[in-house]
Amino acid sequence: MLTRDRELLKPRTITHNRYVRALRPREQLREVFERLDPAGSARPFRLCLMCNAPLRRIAKDKVGDRAPDGVLQRHKLFVTCDVCQRVFWEGTHWQKMRALMDSVAASSNATE
Ligand SMILES: [Zn+2]
Repeated sequence: MLTRDRELLKPRTITHNRYVRALRPREQLREVFERLDPAGSARPFRLCLMCNAPLRRIAKDKVGDRAPDGVLQRHKLFVTCDVCQRVFWEGTHWQKMRALMDSVAASSNATE
């Protein structure tokens, strides 16, 4: 568990936890990469942002009205969550997050 709430770190039942010092999300991500080195085991974009359930690939013709028409025309790869039925695609948010993770991983490797 990663948190900035020290009270949440007190129960002994939680064995894997870490206090995060940084305040801003980008610095928090960098801090986590530097201290825990998750890059080797990171599997980004595999879990639903809403319910944390695994995402699975879905054929474009099964997306239906769960993505806007423009998105269906511009993108080939879609994934869905079987819990909330949301559909995700590799749009600009996804690409920005991938670039952010790559840059944080690269800079944390450079400081070793
Ligand atoms: Zn979901």
